[in-house]
Amino acid sequence: NRRPIIIANWKLNGGIDLLCSSVVSFIRKHYEAEIVVCPPYIYIRDMLNFLQHSEIRIGSQNVSKFESGAFTGETSAQMLKEAGCKYCLIGHSERRSMFRENNASCQIKVQRALDTCLTPVLCIGENNEERENQITRDVLTRQLTEGLEGLDLKDKEICIAYEPIWAIGTGKAASPEIAQEVHHFIRHELVALYGEDTANKIRLLYGGSVNKTNAADLLVQPDIDGLLVGGASLDPEHFEAICQQA
Ligand code: 13P
Repeated sequence: NRRPIIIANWKLNGGIDLLCSSVVSFIRKHYEAEIVVCPPYIYIRDMLNFLQHSEIRIGSQNVSKFESGAFTGETSAQMLKEAGCKYCLIGHSERRSMFRENNASCQIKVQRALDTCLTPVLCIGENNEERENQITRDVLTRQLTEGLEGLDLKDKEICIAYEPIWAIGTGKAASPEIAQEVHHFIRHELVALYGEDTANKIRLLYGGSVNKTNAADLLVQPDIDGLLVGGASLDPEHFEAICQQA
């Protein structure tokens, strides 16, 4: 009874043209899955204006760990909420590797999101070396326990996105079997941390080279509740084809 969810992460791509063509592709359609688009901050309001009567939801790609003050260039959870976001991505591997984010900063951001009723999508995943050294589970456990440390998730909405770094933008998606195995492990860890009731409500998304050809096989896995789509979401027809598979 977890509703599937498909999230488009545009990263630092797109512009008014993509926004318009995406809107045209989705606006009057109904999907089984919840569809979320995360454009760059600057397009959030435009996108929402265009999508007023549609079921598409908007998310941000990041959120500040600060609430307000002298933090040039930052955008707070409260501002994103007011702008109309429902979701926010937190701790994407690109933010961890290029903008020095870590589990501790993710934890603060998740807390900020929960405090403002934005649904956090905490991104976790191992790199190639960690997989080869067979420490994937240790890495994920740490990202989960530290990223969620001390947070009360009872009756809160939160998603976890498993994005193995070796699969992001490489064209080499995890096989459905590997993805399911890891998602099952993540669910198991969440049960240990929060108990069955809470853990079974948390939607787990897979991300990393998702396309219209592999989406269906990933989505039928019992612990995969959704997809986080990068490159393929920049082509509205391609993304639409993925959305239809949930
Ligand atoms: P790709 O779908 O381009 O591999 O990117 C995945 C991703 O990072 C989504 O957040």
